[in-house]
Amino acid sequence: MSSRSFVFIKPDGVRRNLIGEIIGYFEKAGLKVDKLQKIEPDEATVNKHYPLDDRDYILTLGHRDISGLSDKELKAFYQKNLEVVKRLHKYVLSGPIVKMILIGTENPVAKVREVVGKTNPADSPKGSIRGDLGIDSFVKSDAEERACENLVHASGTPAEAEREIKLWFGEDFNVI
Ligand code: ATP
Ligand code: MG
Repeated sequence: MSSRSFVFIKPDGVRRNLIGEIIGYFEKAGLKVDKLQKIEPDEATVNKHYPLDDRDYILTLGHRDISGLSDKELKAFYQKNLEVVKRLHKYVLSGPIVKMILIGTENPVAKVREVVGKTNPADSPKGSIRGDLGIDSFVKSDAEERACENLVHASGTPAEAEREIKLWFGEDFNVI
């Protein structure tokens, strides 16, 4: 079981001066900041993080159960999600982000996701980052043809966390 997770505060969180407040949610939940850096994200890394050419990844977007969909429905879902990823690239590249590695003793990946809330801030519980601080929703962002602004990215699985730490921090991430 991985003892760490990867998070970045998205450009809306940085623009709204919420860096400290967001980090406070993680610290209050017992997670520790191991590495932290504010950066201007580059297109190549964002493309690898949210890949446009990975069909399996595109189908996981939105965390929906797609097992009951017909071929036609699956195709439409795939096309819609592909568009969402293109919008997501624009969103994440719209300003500085704060990338970090969080460590914790008990399943930090799941703990971080719990602290973050659901993908849609409108569905996120009170007490979570997206539930308390989020001001966007799928309904609003869909109507405005952009990705939903939900303040943070958090890894979904321990394997994803390790892949993302390698991608964003490179090989020297253990140097203190
Ligand atoms: P993240 O990976 O950024 O932590 P997540 O795991 O909660 O978010 P994903 O399904 O991986 O959600 O989607 C990645 C991002 O794409 C979301 O955080 C959100 O910004 C955007 N997004 C996903 N689905 C939609 C949608 N239906 N409408 C608008 N934006 C969406
Ligand atoms: Mg995700």
